[in-house]
Amino acid sequence: MKSFKANQAAAGLLLSLLAQASLQAPLNASKWSYVGSDGEENWPKKYPFCGGVFQSPIDFHNDVLQYDSTLMPIDLVGYNVSLKEHFIISNNGHSVRMHLPSSMYIRNLPFRYTASQLHLHWGNRNKPMGSEHRISGRQFAAEVHIVHYNSDKYPDVATAMDKADGLAVLGIFIDIGNFNPSFEKIFCHFTAVKFKDQKVQVPGFNVQELLPTQLDEYFRYEGSLTTPPCFPSVLWTVFRNPVKVSQEQLLALQTALYCSQENDSAPLEMTDNYRHVQEFDERLVSVSFREGVVLSVVIASVLGVCIITGVTCWMLRKRKSLKKDDNKGVIYKPAADTEEDVSKV
Ligand SMILES: [Zn+2]
Repeated sequence: MKSFKANQAAAGLLLSLLAQASLQAPLNASKWSYVGSDGEENWPKKYPFCGGVFQSPIDFHNDVLQYDSTLMPIDLVGYNVSLKEHFIISNNGHSVRMHLPSSMYIRNLPFRYTASQLHLHWGNRNKPMGSEHRISGRQFAAEVHIVHYNSDKYPDVATAMDKADGLAVLGIFIDIGNFNPSFEKIFCHFTAVKFKDQKVQVPGFNVQELLPTQLDEYFRYEGSLTTPPCFPSVLWTVFRNPVKVSQEQLLALQTALYCSQENDSAPLEMTDNYRHVQEFDERLVSVSFREGVVLSVVIASVLGVCIITGVTCWMLRKRKSLKKDDNKGVIYKPAADTEEDVSKV
């Protein structure tokens, strides 16, 4: 938690320096996409934070992982939303988004983080890899983000989103597997939100069904929004275990939606709406689980010992054979030469 506070202070200072400039950007600057001239390489031109520090997503590789025994299972409150309540699902031109009631929150973080919305990132039908985070370089089929804001300190998500301690996002990897009836409660409404700015009201359900069963195994780090304005304001919790949806469900996600409006003469399919992994220098990811991290350390150690043993054996053998060669030289040295040499002395 020490580094959490120190990093927060640094991020806070940076935010206060840059947030004003970013927020005062002209309204027409809010144009960005995942392809073309408004693609992620050019995000920093309009959104300076996107080229800054503490950026997300990242790759969770062994060099940056650190086991932290204080990380408790995520404690979710109010996630089981009654059928009588409703969610609004909408298409914002970048993703499909489901707005969440403020009765949903995470209990066991430094502050109370109240739910705001969830959305997804995915690939395309030919390359079904569209998760934002990765584990040891592995990209999953898709990723869900459940966005929460710090309701202890800020009145709403808009006020919180540019504050260093403003947001907490849960990340869930999606893999291909069996049909998932819980995800179908969102996916079956895609035809109603096919185009940008379309909305549909859907009955409440238990949002926890979208999460993996093991809420105690996750990666934790301080990062950013993965879309412009990329504010470094997110406390990330990315679950280690993916959830599964069927091939058909994934195909529906990859093909059903458009970034463009209904009457647009040049319709643009909503595919590959993920940001690539960002630099991760001088930061560490805390992990709540030992198994896997420890195993990889053991494998690396065993490999190291094997390599050292191998190199030592090879050097010893080489030395031995060199000695043999020296001996050979002595044995077969012509007697005449030796005499000549001696006579020269
Ligand atoms: Zn997201």
